Amino acid sequence: MTNTIPREFIDLLLSRIELVDLIDHRVPLRKKSSNNYFACCPFHTEKSASFSVSQKKQFYYCFGCGAHGNAIDFLMKYDRLSFPEAIEALAKEAQLEIPRSSYVETKPIPADSYELLQKITQFYQQQLKISPPAIAYLKERGLSGEIAKQFAIGFAPPGWDHILQTFGKTPDDKQKLSELGMLIKKEEGGHYDRFRERIMFPIHDRRGRIVGFGGRIIDKGEPKYLNSPETPIFQKGRELYGLYEAQQTHQELSRVLIVEGYMDVIALFQHGITYAVATLGTATTSHHIQRLARYTSHLIFCFDGDTAGRTAAWRALLVILPLMQDGLQIHFMFLPDNEDPDSLIRKIGKENFEKKMEEAHPLSHFFFQSLALETDLSNKDGRARFVKLAKEHIDQLPEGIFQQMMLEELAKRARITDIKQLKPAHSQRPHSLKQKARPPSALRLAMTLLTQEPTLAELIEPALPEVNLPGFSLLHEVIAIAKYSKNLTTGALLEHWRDRDERKTLEKLAHAEHLIPDEGIQQEFLGLIQCLRKLGQQAAIDKLLAKANQAELSEEEKQELRSLQKEKALL
Ligand SMILES: [Zn+2]
Repeated sequence: MTNTIPREFIDLLLSRIELVDLIDHRVPLRKKSSNNYFACCPFHTEKSASFSVSQKKQFYYCFGCGAHGNAIDFLMKYDRLSFPEAIEALAKEAQLEIPRSSYVETKPIPADSYELLQKITQFYQQQLKISPPAIAYLKERGLSGEIAKQFAIGFAPPGWDHILQTFGKTPDDKQKLSELGMLIKKEEGGHYDRFRERIMFPIHDRRGRIVGFGGRIIDKGEPKYLNSPETPIFQKGRELYGLYEAQQTHQELSRVLIVEGYMDVIALFQHGITYAVATLGTATTSHHIQRLARYTSHLIFCFDGDTAGRTAAWRALLVILPLMQDGLQIHFMFLPDNEDPDSLIRKIGKENFEKKMEEAHPLSHFFFQSLALETDLSNKDGRARFVKLAKEHIDQLPEGIFQQMMLEELAKRARITDIKQLKPAHSQRPHSLKQKARPPSALRLAMTLLTQEPTLAELIEPALPEVNLPGFSLLHEVIAIAKYSKNLTTGALLEHWRDRDERKTLEKLAHAEHLIPDEGIQQEFLGLIQCLRKLGQQAAIDKLLAKANQAELSEEEKQELRSLQKEKALL
């Protein structure tokens, strides 16, 4: 079965699955740093969390028992599935059909789709530069050129076929553009552009890839906002506009403000509130909350101050309650009448806006206040009803300090004297994970960096020549696969070695500590590759020289030796 599932499909599958989500559903994870999550290991008994999941690598590793692997390994081990069963489960989750023979093409290839949307983004950006009405609109909304660039804002010009003409030259291209929601099929045949005469806001996923667009009309017309439809790479209930940019700006997000529209996010950002996100034309979902809770422990929801705003806030609260975990802080902020975050921040500036955020209602306050409005707390019957209503919701809360506090608050408000005792909560901390690194050889270190960040392979230019030294053939293979499949994560890269002996070596490298700071990795890697080039050349030269000692070299060999020595001098 392993062999009958095309390799490309497994790559595709692993690029669609988010390991952090997959594990978090089964073993709740805590965020420890921008890319790493921890939990108590599900594969051995322990009191402190030593099970780590790397979002960037799409790989998990337990510092306690050594359990490790990618999404497929996790399901095989945790859900006790066979390899084909794990693939099936993941395919179902990613809503992909498993091609049963290697001749079946997998469509659309994700790397391609992301690239295409990237190109379309650039096209829209160029169009913006030459469209005075669009520029005027953005200026009128107070957007700086700098912020427009940062958010890659563009313009879809008026007309029905710009995208069609520019990117949809073949039937295949048209099909792909339709699947990505950029073209709409006409009933009578043919296609036309979905987005016309709109300011275009590209939407990034958590890895920074463009997965869709939001478009705002600049003139009168309906709908005011238009989003990409749901596509294989874009699910509205999961993505949050601005989260990627916020993450890029902050190493740690101490809080996140949730607003309604793109323009709110951008205006707030421009005025210094660089941690706002917006849902994409949908109400807040549990996916949103779970996702945000991994990046921050403090969520502030911003709503209009009118009845509609309060209803929306209550709806969000109902989504949040079952997901409340100790340590998660939720606030509800209500805006003054006729203001949205965009208009308010322009009026009062960052400092005053943040002051208003600090005055926002804690979840518990908003909860009891809303219920109190529905009941009469001045008499016993009213209070009984209040307790009944509140209890229904509080019972949904996960057990913990927060639930206990809500019960106490309820008792106080309903004038009940019988309060349950507070139970002490035991918090768990991972022990120090720093291990001493052995001084690695250049090859080992290059392989370490490459397995941990396979996209580095794309930087190797020109190609590394074949080197006849131990370990080099594996390096060449890793480079070839990483280059061919593009955008592979560590977990997906290692999948290529599932049934092979070298997998163990690569897995060790995949979680080896190298102590090189993130910003220095590219340079370090290129330095190592340069060093390996020299090593390889020296080895080839030595071999020829050794041969020359034994016998006369052929003309070709002499030629090769000369060119090697010349190249070496240049390096
Ligand atoms: Zn373990």
